[in-house]
Amino acid sequence: MSARTTRFHLLTAIIFISVGLLSGCEQGPESCPKYTDVELVNPKSYQGNDQLPFQFPLENAESYTQPILYNFGSCRQVTERRRECHSAEDYIGEPGTPVYAFADGEISFSGPMGGYGWLIIIDHPQANLYSLYGHLSPSRWEAKRGPVEKGELIGYLGDADENGGSPEQPLIPHLHFGIRTGQRIKYPGSGEWRWMAGWIAICPQDAGWLQPSLVISNQHIPEGGFTMPVGNFFAIWWFPLVFGGIYIFSWMCLLVYTRKREKPHLLVSFGALCIVAAWLLFTKHSLLSIVLFGLSAASIPLGLYRLIKRAK
Ligand SMILES: [Zn+2]
Repeated sequence: MSARTTRFHLLTAIIFISVGLLSGCEQGPESCPKYTDVELVNPKSYQGNDQLPFQFPLENAESYTQPILYNFGSCRQVTERRRECHSAEDYIGEPGTPVYAFADGEISFSGPMGGYGWLIIIDHPQANLYSLYGHLSPSRWEAKRGPVEKGELIGYLGDADENGGSPEQPLIPHLHFGIRTGQRIKYPGSGEWRWMAGWIAICPQDAGWLQPSLVISNQHIPEGGFTMPVGNFFAIWWFPLVFGGIYIFSWMCLLVYTRKREKPHLLVSFGALCIVAAWLLFTKHSLLSIVLFGLSAASIPLGLYRLIKRAK
């Protein structure tokens, strides 16, 4: 292998590995603005009423008067260098407690997700919101993708060892319930702009999260729906833009290089590497996987075509 080829392989490997390593590491705020404490006497009053757009995802009234494991916007020190704030409300409940859709919508994600155990996301285009239900039970899960009505059963709270906790490190059974402006697909980013973000290094309302109990008790959808925070285009999209750009640029360099040096097999190996990376990113629900699948779909046939042509 020539020194040039080795350098190329090394550069490609560095680009691929760095994708996995980059994530937000800024220090979070000391505290976030105080939110109104919502005293909810009877959450059931929001249920079964077709006139109202929203309802609570759990039935248990006590969950709301003594609600919350972590309140919306409460911050904690995670490591010496990182503070994080909670982007949702946590409602404590027994394992197996039914969880209901908070509004009409479309389930855009239902699946296992790291520290969440089972996670469900529902998009609500009529209000320009999405809602997030974390720490559900993988063993009793209910909802798949597709349309769902307000109040429909979507899942159950998970046991302490399957809700994102483990037998060694059990997690108190609770619902992590978040509401965010925009739709899930509008948050492709990493760090604070992850669509499934639960703890972030900025105040949650700066990333579009709303206080769930306040949204529900207000029962009000602004004209045209809730608006996403403005001016954060790059904060949201930098990850797929920068890395998508790097991938496409490397690919174009590779095209020129393999053509000049007549090394089409490099195109095939690049395509194969792309498939592996694309699959890994796909399992992380990153939009970058689309770019990588596209590049492999272009590289492998082209490389093979040139190899066959050369062999003739
Ligand atoms: Zn939580």
